[in-house]
Amino acid sequence: MRKRILAVFAHPDDEAFGVGGTLARCAAEGHEVELVSATRGEAGEISDSRLATAEQLGEVREQELRCAAKALGIQAVHFLDYCDSGMDGTDLNRSPLSFVNADAHQVQSKLVEIMRQFRPDVVITFEPNGGYGHPDHIAIHQHTVKAFDLAADEQVWPGLGAAHRAERLFFTGIPQSFFAGLRETMQRLGQDASDLAWLEKAQTDAWEAQINFAVDVSDYVDAKWRALECHATQFGPQNLFRRVPAEEMRRLMSVEYFWMARPTAPFGQQYTDLLANF
Ligand SMILES: [Zn+2]
Repeated sequence: MRKRILAVFAHPDDEAFGVGGTLARCAAEGHEVELVSATRGEAGEISDSRLATAEQLGEVREQELRCAAKALGIQAVHFLDYCDSGMDGTDLNRSPLSFVNADAHQVQSKLVEIMRQFRPDVVITFEPNGGYGHPDHIAIHQHTVKAFDLAADEQVWPGLGAAHRAERLFFTGIPQSFFAGLRETMQRLGQDASDLAWLEKAQTDAWEAQINFAVDVSDYVDAKWRALECHATQFGPQNLFRRVPAEEMRRLMSVEYFWMARPTAPFGQQYTDLLANF
């Protein structure tokens, strides 16, 4: 039976690495997949000055996201039109235009409207630490959880459409074992793995213990790689994940991990399909 999947993230490229294989698999299996991006990632890197100027970066990244969405089979992309808040501790964190400073009701009403229009069966967003603690990732997690419940409450914003409760809410994250595997590979190849330290540090035991879905996306690693290549401003030749031989990287990218937050599953049970047993 055809299902609707809504992925809700903060920046162009958030959809590619941790969850892109799953979205591509759902689309390839005939389900409808739509994506929300809170910002256009205006504070991201520019891997090659020929690709964008700082002023154009948001526009360029919007096109990169549309390219990635096509590669993954995502049918529609919704922008919430906030600005990237930058990495934790940077000046942009205090800008009134930044997503972290957006009015909570305004953000949640935009999400509720999308949820009531698209009427997803499954909603996917970041885990509470946003993968590695990016302020926008944490903010989109919090707003999505809130909107998931508000969308189902007919007393709330009745003008935004008929109430809708999605059946499942998933959080996505990358487990410590992924980084351990990557570190082991890099060390074996004699590469400097020091860049991994800050990513590894952000992976919390709390998240690790909650993982209860491991999805095999080995048939969709190509689609995921094409999506990553669409994000050329972020995924340049210096990127950490480009330094490992493609074959090793494919192996590491072939499983994606989730924690089902609503409804909660019996503790200790492990599953492999986000859509199974509806
Ligand atoms: Zn991001």
